[in-house]
Amino acid sequence: MNYFSEEHEMFRKSLRDFLKREVKPNLDQWEKDGKIPKEIWKKMGKMGFLGLSLPEKYGGSNLDFFFEVVLNEEMAKLNSGGFTITQQAVQYMSAPYILKYGSDFLKDKYLPGIVSGNLISCIGITEPNAGSDVQNIQTNAVKKGDHYIVNGSKTFITNGIYGDFVVTVVKTDPTSRSKGISLLVIDLDSDGITKTKIDKLGWRSSDTAELSFDNVVVPSENLIGEEGKGFYYLMNGLQLERLCFLPSSIATMEFAISESLNYMKERKAFGKSINEFQVLRHRIAQLSSEIEALKVFSYHCCDLYDKKIYDVKLCSMGKLLCTELHEKVSTQCLQLFGGNGFTEDYPMARMYRDCRVGTIGGGTSEIMREIIAKIVIDGKDYTAEATKK
Ligand SMILES: Cc1cc2nc3c(=O)[nH]c(=O)nc-3n(C[C@H](O)[C@H](O)[C@H](O)COP(=O)(O)OP(=O)(O)OC[C@H]3O[C@@H](n4cnc5c(N)ncnc54)[C@H](O)[C@@H]3O)c2cc1C
Repeated sequence: MNYFSEEHEMFRKSLRDFLKREVKPNLDQWEKDGKIPKEIWKKMGKMGFLGLSLPEKYGGSNLDFFFEVVLNEEMAKLNSGGFTITQQAVQYMSAPYILKYGSDFLKDKYLPGIVSGNLISCIGITEPNAGSDVQNIQTNAVKKGDHYIVNGSKTFITNGIYGDFVVTVVKTDPTSRSKGISLLVIDLDSDGITKTKIDKLGWRSSDTAELSFDNVVVPSENLIGEEGKGFYYLMNGLQLERLCFLPSSIATMEFAISESLNYMKERKAFGKSINEFQVLRHRIAQLSSEIEALKVFSYHCCDLYDKKIYDVKLCSMGKLLCTELHEKVSTQCLQLFGGNGFTEDYPMARMYRDCRVGTIGGGTSEIMREIIAKIVIDGKDYTAEATKK
């Protein structure tokens, strides 16, 4: 089944040309700097590459989800997980909560900047003592008149230093677990916020930070939706976060195969091109088969999402399988490059370190297996819970 129309392909071409011209030549430097200049997002906004599925009212293009798939694929083919995640965190991990559950005030204030590339956002779920166990977060927001006072800390926050605001998961009722959780939009220039950059293995061009909140005053109008509903909003929103790993990891794996084939054709050993060695040919055959099968599955999951069917089981399966295959592909393709694979002169070293976070971020592989086991073995209906408002 072909999910892409002529319009999608025209969009892909103009996006690819833009990325080739404006991004690709700069990526090595941005990886070294550990930072992406914000200007690039403004340029992408001007070109109409951001806010693809957001309503026109906020400057968006109101397009179907496969335009977002194209964006994810083309960004991912650049082989910089740091570049891709910076914008994924904005478009798919934080802004959607405002669009779906936020008041008109919040939508008007934040969404136009997300579409124009002027605003960078983050999602603040993880804490030093609570990652997988989201219900156990401790950052608290206490209502005082027309504002909340927020105390606590978040860690591993993508765009935490670089960003303008964070959709923050807080406890408004510390005596409850899931029912005590709410979502607050917090401007990152608010008094009382301390930001500390985290040095990390991969995604080197993206900024990851620890955020501390010390009596931060947040207007009550920054509450997303209703108090105590945050966990349900998250269960729904996390499907999109996980889904985005599918097209982006598949596209990066395809890039790895294509780069490997080019290298194997040129590289000679024992008097022939290494692409003539059966063991290496079979490795490519195996990896290509696995990627192709998952690509079909990935498009099926994206198609369901496009039809507003939030299938927790399939999204979790897709995230688990794609991110684990990505690790295997990056390890085995790096091997095809021999010593060169280990150097920064060839693409596999960056892919090897970037893909490692795939089985951790957005819910670890172990948590994906837990969710799938509860659905498959215990008959738990996460989809109904995730779509409950
Ligand atoms: C580069 C990077 C960027 C990130 N960006 C963001 C972001 O923007 N916003 C954000 O909120 N978070 C972000 N995260 C955090 C990420 O979502 C968490 O790291 C992840 O959810 C795991 O949480 P944890 O690190 O606390 O690990 P833990 O929850 O402490 O888990 C440790 C180990 O125990 C396993 N484990 C835990 N519970 C179970 C269980 N029930 N059964 C079996 N095994 C279990 C885990 O799978 C893992 O292997 C980012 C992380 C990284 C590394």
